[in-house]
Amino acid sequence: MIEVLHKKLDSYFHEMVDIRRFLHQHPELLFEEKETPKLIAEFYRNIGIPVQENVGGNGVVARLKGTKKGKTVALRADFDALPIQDEKDVAYKSKVPGVMHACGHDGHTATLLIVAKVLKQCQDNLAGDYVFIHQHAEEIAPGGALSMIEDGCLDGVDVIFGTHLWATEDTGKILYRSGPIMAAADRFQITIQGQGGHGAHPHTTKDAIMTASQFVVNLQQIVSRKVDPIESAVISVGNFVAENAFNVIADKVKLAGTVRTFNNKIRASIEKEIEKVLKGTCITNDCSYSYEYIHGYPALVNHQEETEFLAALAKDVPGVVEVVESPPQMGGEDFAYYLQHVKGSFFFTGAKPVNANAAFPHHHPKFDIDEKAMVIAAKTLVSAAINYQKAVE
Ligand code: MN
Repeated sequence: MIEVLHKKLDSYFHEMVDIRRFLHQHPELLFEEKETPKLIAEFYRNIGIPVQENVGGNGVVARLKGTKKGKTVALRADFDALPIQDEKDVAYKSKVPGVMHACGHDGHTATLLIVAKVLKQCQDNLAGDYVFIHQHAEEIAPGGALSMIEDGCLDGVDVIFGTHLWATEDTGKILYRSGPIMAAADRFQITIQGQGGHGAHPHTTKDAIMTASQFVVNLQQIVSRKVDPIESAVISVGNFVAENAFNVIADKVKLAGTVRTFNNKIRASIEKEIEKVLKGTCITNDCSYSYEYIHGYPALVNHQEETEFLAALAKDVPGVVEVVESPPQMGGEDFAYYLQHVKGSFFFTGAKPVNANAAFPHHHPKFDIDEKAMVIAAKTLVSAAINYQKAVE
């Protein structure tokens, strides 16, 4: 059965590439996806799998029933693009100015559609049910996973698997990790309010730039002095704005940054520590502040049993040359929410372009994937879905 499915996946490689390249040329930003979900739903209607549109927003969910009793396995692919100008010189370059698939979600979608197609062709021999979750809006919190879960995409689901094509790892590599594999990704926004004045008369002012600068430096003490060195956390200030003339002392500075953690206690303590440092620095300099901490996705925590199951079966997937434990990644992923509701595992599928000149990190204007990796991702997902029925017998 698995061999037949894998062979079928090979035979549909060109269709997979065609779908991926079409999506690559027609990317849509999160919460604005219209044509992509339409294309997905149309695909399911054509292959005869019942499909539901507008799930939790722009999401699409298709359900395939096997002919024998079994578990319900969900597979998830996201389909939103990014506000980045495509700078690649390829025939399938994005046709939408300022928008591109710079994270491989086009490849995820093509992969899952073909997975569904081959499973449908073997429906008569299938045990269990299969739920294909095409998720809108992954890139920025609140994301699409939560609303899709609230709208029932996980109803009846026993286990979920998902993969991310990973362009910084060689094709043929599968990277798994039990426990936290991707970080909680939070955001903070701060305004420091002082009192402006003439640059020549600092003593009559409350210098917001100096205060904000001290704050950014003091912030560095949180991870180094308040977080257990065995644990990990990142606090980065990415935005620092004081629009002012060169000879005027600024009355106001706006700052924004990101916090990445894997542990909920540390996440909560950092939220408080940032405000303590902010308050202390502002008191010292007679400034006031506003502070907003916005929770992004929680840490993505893989379930141990399902991850070990996946890592074991990946070794037998044709095309897979190496199955390795991934270090935790500081990026965020709203697949995290599915794993708060059902068991499952999220893994990376190496997809580095063979031509070294075409290899760029995710979210880069020249990002691309090795399309052959889609077949490996598809085979691994199919193996996971089918073998899971045996694993729980
Ligand atoms: Mn992504």
